[in-house]
Amino acid sequence: MARIVLEKVTKTFGTAEVIPPLDLTIEDGEFTVFVGPSGCGKSTLLRLIAGLEETTSGRVLIDGGDVTEVSPSKRGLAMVFQTYALYPHMTVRKNIAFPMRMAGLSQAEQDQRVEVAAESLNLTDYLDRKPAQLSGGQRQRVAIGRAIVRDPSAFLFDEPLSNLDAALRVGMRVEITEMHARMKTTMIYVTHDQVEAMTMADRIVVLRAGVIEQVGTPLELYRTPRNTFVAGFIGSPK
Ligand code: ADP
Ligand code: MG
Repeated sequence: MARIVLEKVTKTFGTAEVIPPLDLTIEDGEFTVFVGPSGCGKSTLLRLIAGLEETTSGRVLIDGGDVTEVSPSKRGLAMVFQTYALYPHMTVRKNIAFPMRMAGLSQAEQDQRVEVAAESLNLTDYLDRKPAQLSGGQRQRVAIGRAIVRDPSAFLFDEPLSNLDAALRVGMRVEITEMHARMKTTMIYVTHDQVEAMTMADRIVVLRAGVIEQVGTPLELYRTPRNTFVAGFIGSPK
């Protein structure tokens, strides 16, 4: 079943049409990567799905319902950015529980969900630490944990690893892929990094100047790139 559908969505900033009419369907449980060069509209597209940007025209559907006019907090999605703003004075436990406390969940429910999230993110031993006592990768996991406990219908990641050093990035790539395999939640992952796209995606959406050049599995894009842009970007010999 389709989890997220974009119908003839456009976005114009001033006179610049950053996203010309675009159609896209994202299936339930799929790990989709939006890849393309800097400035091609990846973040804009993700923000349109999240509701952080208003569409200029077109419709955004989640689980069949039109959410084009629905505020970000009511769309049931979780967004993880490259800069993970944790509360420095709060423990990991309190950071992860924060959105649940705001939503008024019972203490028992909060504790239980924190335990489950911490376990799936290998944070169980760090729950009583403050963010300053964590590595960059651990902090990023806390940020993901804070998104997990809200039980979102999809995760949206915008270049979440680009602030981490190379070695950590490889580890986190594997962790996010494993997290998807365990949770089977729909995930959309934005990156300009071809290796991340090829190693993480079920399906890749290649963007150039707001236009979808090709959609396919990593193998399909590698074997049968539609044009030289895709071929060049994905790194296949065509
Ligand atoms: P990417 O994430 O692929 O690097 P973006 O979606 O951030 O690209 O940006 C796509 C284009 O839209 C760029 O040319 C950028 O300058 C422009 N853009 C993005 N946000 C705004 C904005 N709020 N106002 C004006 N132009 C913007
Ligand atoms: Mg971006």
